[in-house]
Amino acid sequence: MILILEPNVDTSSAEYLQLISILDSLPDVEYRTHNVQGAEVKLTEVYLIGDTQSLSIERMRALPTVESTVRISESYRVLGRHEDDNRPASFNYNGVRFSQDNLHVFAGLCAVDSAEHVELMMRALKEHGQQCTRMGAYKPRTSPYSFQGHGKDCLPFVFELAGKYDIKVIAMEVTHESHIDEIDAALTAAGRPTGVMLQIGTRNTQNFELLKCVGRQSTYPVLIKRGFGITLNESLNAAEYLASEGNRNVIFALRGVKSNLGDPHRNLVDFAHVPVIKRKTLMPVCIDPSHSVGTRATGRDGIMDVMHVTAQGIIAGANMVLVDFHPVPEKALVDGPQALVLDELGPFLRDVEIVREAYVKRLVNLA
Ligand code: PEP
Ligand code: MN
Repeated sequence: MILILEPNVDTSSAEYLQLISILDSLPDVEYRTHNVQGAEVKLTEVYLIGDTQSLSIERMRALPTVESTVRISESYRVLGRHEDDNRPASFNYNGVRFSQDNLHVFAGLCAVDSAEHVELMMRALKEHGQQCTRMGAYKPRTSPYSFQGHGKDCLPFVFELAGKYDIKVIAMEVTHESHIDEIDAALTAAGRPTGVMLQIGTRNTQNFELLKCVGRQSTYPVLIKRGFGITLNESLNAAEYLASEGNRNVIFALRGVKSNLGDPHRNLVDFAHVPVIKRKTLMPVCIDPSHSVGTRATGRDGIMDVMHVTAQGIIAGANMVLVDFHPVPEKALVDGPQALVLDELGPFLRDVEIVREAYVKRLVNLA
């Protein structure tokens, strides 16, 4: 059961202390408190764990400072969407709002190679009014002999250029807890000109110790990819690891799953799960068409498969698109064959807009 307390509750007030003493006296029930700092108010939620079946929801709602109660109906306690659950499915980070109701595109480099390419990318994003991007510094590669990313060495120029081109949020994968400190130190040294969304890659979806470390900090929101060879339930539980440690600013990304049934695409596209995740959890849902499709193959209609699957995710209500671009894909050190080029950014964004408008019309039509 979740007790949602009155906004901005004063934790030194007599009423709050009375609540705590009542909770302390409940047999076989433990509790954990989560604070969520919204744009205007601080929300406090108390998660009751253990023998909560015998607790009457009316009695709990009547306790001092309690505004409402939610009976937990999903196994994802914090991120799950429970019955009569009115908790927000959104958060703000560095001036950008992420929600199950809106849409952001994160077009950028799969892997940072040179400052020149980062600058070309960011300039193009600014010209198209974009405030978010992807920039891989730490790359988990299948072969130990492949380029592993420039790591912390590239962070100073990536952050400085982001500031120059008004980029507010950069999605950046971390594969080890030390990367969080490296990113934090580089952002501080640069004067925090931009923000970072920490990305957990599909190969690390069940790296529980990494999830706990990333979940313990709440400076940076997290983008967690679905594991490519595990069930959706297992991946959603992985996301819950982040939230159970305290960070619930989490976005869940679909990126296709490993199966020969997806051939000739790199992975079997799973964007039919967008509405499923929005129904089961409070997380905004991201789609990654580049790592799903993995090629620049183009349909008979002249539209690339990457753009077709982007449209399929957006028409189903996706909230974020993570997509590989590169100014010179032939020179990209990672995933060049699936990257779109800068001239394709305008048409891509327009297509995204067309499909999003269609989704919004569907909402009205089918309401
Ligand atoms: C990526 O987004 O760069 C990436 C490696 O993706 P995934 O973890 O989905 O393979
Ligand atoms: Mn990649």
